[in-house]
Amino acid sequence: MAHPHGELAASERREALKAVLAQARACTRCPELAATRKTVVFGSGNADAELAFVGEAPGASEDEQGIPFVGRAGQLLNQLLEEIGLDRKDVWICNVLKCRPPGNRDPLPIEIDNCQEYLQRQVELIEPTVICTLGNFSTKLLRGDPTGITRLHGQPQVLTLGRRAVRLYPIFHPAAALYTPRMLQVLQEDFARIPELLGRAVEPPPPPAPLYAPEPPVEHPVQLGLF
Ligand code: URA
Repeated sequence: MAHPHGELAASERREALKAVLAQARACTRCPELAATRKTVVFGSGNADAELAFVGEAPGASEDEQGIPFVGRAGQLLNQLLEEIGLDRKDVWICNVLKCRPPGNRDPLPIEIDNCQEYLQRQVELIEPTVICTLGNFSTKLLRGDPTGITRLHGQPQVLTLGRRAVRLYPIFHPAAALYTPRMLQVLQEDFARIPELLGRAVEPPPPPAPLYAPEPPVEHPVQLGLF
């Protein structure tokens, strides 16, 4: 049954999400990934979450278990969540790609393109108010812009995704702290702002200013009898 504003009830969103999961599990849009994956890592956590995390792509442990962020980066994500009083069961966690790229290579542009419908549907159906993009791939995809995470991390921004306004909050990928230990403090500082962001209302962003606004026509008084 449709809701007053044309939105779906939570139970309907849940059913629709299950249908998207079934579609993703059978997906062969990326022939190499479909041939080499063990599982499709769709996402995990609370399908009604206010807060979603979007990483890059499953690694070997995620591909084995079918659950995102269960390897070393995932353990750090669990720790960072715990430090702000959250548990991964409270949030939605997923990736730009739902299948592991062989050898953990970077996702290819065509793979991101093929897979983005699944992420779009997840965002539409889970309706998070805050989306933390973890690292460059999800930040660039959801902002539709090539600006990198080093410039953007820690700066929330309200965006319209699909038909809803969401607060996007880019942060470094937890794997960055595994390779560069001083990154842990940056991640902890950025994580510390998440509770405050969850408490804020999300107003839709103002429409972009037109690049060229035509001047209203000037009305000249009609002059008669000059010639
Ligand atoms: N890195 C990611 O981006 N996603 C995972 O699920 C695991 C590691």
